[in-house]
Amino acid sequence: MKAIRGATTVAKDCPEDIRDSVRELLDAIFSENSLRLDEVVCIMLSSTADITSFYPAKAAREAGYARFPLYSSTEPSIEGSLSRCIRVMILVERSKAVKHIYLREAKMLRKDLTKTLNIAIDGPAGSGKSTVSRIIAERLGILYLDTGAMYRAIALKCVRENADYADKDVIKNIVDRIDIKVDYCNGAQVTLLDGEDVSAEIRTPQVSLLASYVSAYSFVRTKMVELQRDIAAKFSCVLDGRDIGTNVLPDCEFKFFLTADNKVRAKRRHAENVAKGIDQPFDEVLKEIEERDFHDRNRAVAPLKQASDAQVVDTSDMTIDEVVSLILTKVEEKI
Ligand code: C5P
Repeated sequence: MKAIRGATTVAKDCPEDIRDSVRELLDAIFSENSLRLDEVVCIMLSSTADITSFYPAKAAREAGYARFPLYSSTEPSIEGSLSRCIRVMILVERSKAVKHIYLREAKMLRKDLTKTLNIAIDGPAGSGKSTVSRIIAERLGILYLDTGAMYRAIALKCVRENADYADKDVIKNIVDRIDIKVDYCNGAQVTLLDGEDVSAEIRTPQVSLLASYVSAYSFVRTKMVELQRDIAAKFSCVLDGRDIGTNVLPDCEFKFFLTADNKVRAKRRHAENVAKGIDQPFDEVLKEIEERDFHDRNRAVAPLKQASDAQVVDTSDMTIDEVVSLILTKVEEKI
């Protein structure tokens, strides 16, 4: 269960203004959170003592938010507090991160809650990015956006269409037609290729290597980066990738660049493959990782590179918990 918070103000203490403000606030909360009515457990509203002409809960019911318990109360009158203010707390059944909404004069109430938190974690394959990013997102109650999955989905489409990755026009044609979306199910990212869940299928060694080739095309990156920026602007999230700190979110406040020795990375990837039932000899895994690194570091557009203001973390001799706690400490110091 999660709580979505919000507040707004009314221009005058009259039923029309109260109805308008409540409707505007609830509409904004529902649309910004893509919230469905059946996810809502209850809505609690409170208003400052200078609002006396209409119950905010009644305004909510009239606005169509009526399928669940609604409750409103009056706050004590406190000197110096915002006047004619209506606050809301909506309890919802969902694991996905939520966005709090503050409108009108109430925007100044909780700048901390309305600010979107983005954490960029870049690095080569096997540096621990995805595991660490997933745990951090979970601990902070925000989304984890695996940007590599998007490039993998494009690579998968190329595999399915038997496309020659070296033929720019062929790949461009595929990218023009492709529909890639990410969704979340119980907090885990679901990668959708033309509406189909391909989250498992994009994890094969063949797709890994091909992703590294197709991600070098500028038109591929433009399309994916736009999608990534869109998600990052709307939701607090941890993004992992190769160019998040340098290109996708250059102004991101929290940037980390994870590295590790090549053999350590290959060992980790090999163990992951074994767990997934993917049978690939260690030497081949190492070769594939080195080949991908080479491409990712040497491509012309947004290569794998640490941002000058990113904190570098060599994870070769660190446990996952140690990396997570190092990053969380840095983030929590500032939020
Ligand atoms: O992170 P993952 O190994 O899933 O990424 C697959 C490939 O996608 C990478 O080797 C890289 O070429 C590409 N990629 C990228 N930029 C990102 C994320 C991944 O170019 N932000």
